[in-house]
Amino acid sequence: MKNGVCPKCQSTEIYTDARQPKRGDRCSLPVTSWTKVFVDLYICLHCGFFEEYIRPEDLKNEKMMEKVRQQFRKL
Ligand SMILES: [Zn+2]
Repeated sequence: MKNGVCPKCQSTEIYTDARQPKRGDRCSLPVTSWTKVFVDLYICLHCGFFEEYIRPEDLKNEKMMEKVRQQFRKL
């Protein structure tokens, strides 16, 4: 999806809000009552499929990812 191709329908009509100002309910994921990570959306305008990824700068934030490890269960 991040490569601009939909994994479900192979369309290249992919749009993202990555590196744009975040707004709305889907822009972040709560980790604790005080902490949230921001999420980048990738949307296919052909079939409607979308994916969400933790924003790269949050993924690199070790302190933040340690909180995620504490709050989520590892598979
Ligand atoms: Zn699609």
